[in-house]
Amino acid sequence: MAIPNIDTDECSGCGICVDTCPQGVLDIVGSTAQVVNEDSCVECGDCAEECPMGAIEI
Ligand code: SF4
Ligand code: SF4
Repeated sequence: MAIPNIDTDECSGCGICVDTCPQGVLDIVGSTAQVVNEDSCVECGDCAEECPMGAIEI
């Protein structure tokens, strides 16, 4: 099962991926996005597509 891999060095903490994810998989923890609910990921790829920093790989 693939889950989002977030490059925290590239992440700006904008929160777009959190708002984009229909499954509530991601949240901002501290100053970067983190996977907080990996079992709910449906691997749609929307978070990676919307990230302006290219910080997410599925
Ligand atoms: S969309 Fe990208 S830059 Fe913005 S919080 Fe998510 S991973 Fe970080
Ligand atoms: S791939 Fe889809 S379901 Fe999984 S974290 Fe990204 S937006 Fe959410």
